[in-house]
Parts: sequence; structure tokens; C-alpha cells
Amino acid sequence: MIREILIYGESVLRTKGKQIEKIDDDIRALAADMLETMYDANGVGLAAQQVGRTLRLTVIDVSDAESRPSKMWVAGEEVDPKEHMPLVLINPELQPGEESEIGTEGCLSFPEITAEIPRSAKVKVTAQDLQGNRIEFEAAGLLGRAVQHEADHLNGILFIDRMSSAAKASLAGKLKRLAAESKKS
Ligand code: ZN
Repeated sequence: MIREILIYGESVLRTKGKQIEKIDDDIRALAADMLETMYDANGVGLAAQQVGRTLRLTVIDVSDAESRPSKMWVAGEEVDPKEHMPLVLINPELQPGEESEIGTEGCLSFPEITAEIPRSAKVKVTAQDLQGNRIEFEAAGLLGRAVQHEADHLNGILFIDRMSSAAKASLAGKLKRLAAESKKS
């Protein structure tokens, strides 16, 4: 089922997600719906907050982003990210590397807004999958960026918080309109 994606201005986007203690039917249905919703919106990632749930759950699929390569390592071995998509990450924990890089980002909760955002060039991720198995991998490129963007959502952090103040100032009008629209609906 495709769920409504909440737009900037909704307070749930600013709420930290709760740790998921038990992977039950509700969580499995939510993850399936989030994947469907993300594909429908042509996104590469979606966090629970974006569909109104304050849980530490996010889904990611970078398979179709041909022009923006991803890198992934499992147990130190480089793997083909496509073979590991989609990712359902429950209670993810990130260890960002020291080196950072700037790249373009958008967000399904900010229609028509993109910005240059600094992120760690490589990040180590530990999480649980839908079966409750512990998963661990490293990511770089678009996947690394997507994981960091989504993990921020789970903490109530939005990509506008990581923009330069000049970029944010130039978007101020658009952001105000988005927030006003989302309050109306
Ligand atoms: Zn986002």
C-alpha cells in the first residue's frame, strides 16, 4: 500500500524514532509499504518519519541510480550493491569516516528542492534486517550518502540542517511555502 509522504512542516519529521524492540506484522507491513511508496515516488530512500511513524526504520534502494554510482563492502570485501538492494534497515547505527565530500541531495519530504550537502565519504553501518539478523556493511558513493541522509531522518534531522547558511537563506522562501502548504493539508 502506498502511504502519504509527509512534507516539511509536519512535526513528526522533527521527532526522533523509537528503537524497534520486536519485528512484528506491523513492522513488516510498514517496511513493505515504505518500499512501495519509495518506488512510486522514484526515491532512493525513505524513513519511517516520512510516512508518519516515529520508529528507527528506513528503506533504501540505489539500484536504478545509474548516473550516481554506489560502493558497498561486506566483511571487508567489495560487493555489487545491486545484489543487496533493497535494504531494510532496522535500528541502524552509523560510524562515519573522517573524510567528507560534497554531493547533491534531494528529499521526498522537500519536493523540488536539491542542495549540496557535505557527508562522510564512507560510512560503516550496523543494523537489523526484517528477519532480525544483524547486518553490517560499509558504503560510499550514493549509497553512503543515502544511508547518512536516512539515519538523520530517524534522529529528526533534515538535510536543510546540513546546508550552508547561504544555501538555506536562498531557499528560505521555498521552505516557508512548503511548510505553509503542509500545515493546510
Ligand atoms: Zn529525506
